[in-house]
Amino acid sequence: MRARTHILFSVLCLLFYVDYVEVKHILLFSFLLFFAALFPDIDEAGSAIGKKTKPFSNIINIICGHRGVFHSLLLPSAAALTLLFFQQTEAAVAVFIGYVSHLVMDMITPAGIYLFYPFRWKIRGPIPVNSFFEKMLFWTFIVIISIKLLVLYSAFV
Ligand SMILES: [Zn+2]
Repeated sequence: MRARTHILFSVLCLLFYVDYVEVKHILLFSFLLFFAALFPDIDEAGSAIGKKTKPFSNIINIICGHRGVFHSLLLPSAAALTLLFFQQTEAAVAVFIGYVSHLVMDMITPAGIYLFYPFRWKIRGPIPVNSFFEKMLFWTFIVIISIKLLVLYSAFV
């Protein structure tokens, strides 16, 4: 999926999460969640984040390939467990939700991902990257996010 679709889906996840759980440091939580939602594509130098970290991204791509270990549950689990070890529960949750939101979006593309890497079970779906259907998804997210923000806003007024 394109970076903007990943970001919108992560915004949606954030909005649903804060519906149920109180977040103490919402700015930091949001920043970590959005960063984690873009991070997996660091394994591809042509991606939004890959362009900003090109030399590093190229090395990762050569070693790990695109949609390899960086598109699996290994890294977000390791990051979340490390943060939990240091008692940073909110940060752990933010990173995990953001990262997994990226994986879910890539899971529904025909290229798919190896969610349980190193096991080679590919999970894939029907929505090609940058297709009409991705654009439909993008606009659906915009509508749902707008509704959620309106509801949030009306609760404060
Ligand atoms: Zn990706």
